[in-house]
Amino acid sequence: MEDIHLAAAKKNVMKAGFLDIEIDPTLDLFHEIERLKKEKNAILLAHYYQEPDIQDVADYIGDSLGLAQKAQNTDADIIVFAGVHFMAETAKILNPNKKVLLPDLNAGCSLADSAPADQFRKFKEKYPDHIVISYINCTADIKALSDIIVTSSNAQKIVESVPRDQKIIFAPDKNLGAYLVKKTGRDMVLWNGACMVHEIFSLEKITKLKTRHPNARFIAHPECEEAVLRLADYIGSTTGLLKYTQQNEATEFIVATETGILHQMQKSSPNKTFIPAPPNNSCACNDCPHMKLNTLEKLYLCMEYETPEIQMDEELRKAAKKPIDRMLEISAQYGL
Ligand code: SF4
Repeated sequence: MEDIHLAAAKKNVMKAGFLDIEIDPTLDLFHEIERLKKEKNAILLAHYYQEPDIQDVADYIGDSLGLAQKAQNTDADIIVFAGVHFMAETAKILNPNKKVLLPDLNAGCSLADSAPADQFRKFKEKYPDHIVISYINCTADIKALSDIIVTSSNAQKIVESVPRDQKIIFAPDKNLGAYLVKKTGRDMVLWNGACMVHEIFSLEKITKLKTRHPNARFIAHPECEEAVLRLADYIGSTTGLLKYTQQNEATEFIVATETGILHQMQKSSPNKTFIPAPPNNSCACNDCPHMKLNTLEKLYLCMEYETPEIQMDEELRKAAKKPIDRMLEISAQYGL
């Protein structure tokens, strides 16, 4: 008979967001997660912003584009997504017949939350002759209102692929949008959303840090504010930043994005030094609180008991899939 605490936790899982039960502290969670992957034919996909332990046990670590491509091509029966809700939702949109698990349903995204669907629908109505290009960091409802989805890896190429006389709304990230306007020369209408992690970097502290490390390259994600991007030696997606640190001859890098990526940077270039760009807050941390809600314990529990699971309305799923398919097609054309 099922343990009474487990039964209660399963009943409460949609409310709590995760399976709230104790784990035997002697369990080797790395071993258990590997065992569960094999037993259940499950693939574990993790975003670069996950904690190092989760990255180390994942089958694939990547940014939003890589993760979506991997989710599209897997033959696993279960996709375990160590990332935030919109990412797991994207995996479900692409794989309606697979079980998609997220260790903690509360792992949201401030950027996705900055575009509520009802407000965005009204905004879109004001620009009837515009198409909508949306950054993948948005809810399924916003995807369903979009024509093409982009990630920071393919956004520039995709915007450039749209005929020049076609007017464009870009949502939800105003900083990435402004960066793309500058790079492509396209005059896009921008939705006023932003990521709480990438907006928090302190220009003043970064300037001082650069002075103290004159040989360091300053690299930044395009979700950062324009003033920060102006200081950068290189701007790129999370994967782009990682590759840059691998290929560039510099030995010191100041990195303006979520700190989780430093784990992969340090692993692939053990002799180089990586300094997180300082944020404008007293706790001096630029961790994404949503990403960091996932823990090794929650990951193990969701795999063992196959809950919480991403559920989606089928009509919404189909509507949200079209602009993602468009992105994957254009990315494939450009070999991205
Ligand atoms: S880092 Fe920003 S964009 Fe990424 S999940 Fe966290 S809040 Fe969302």
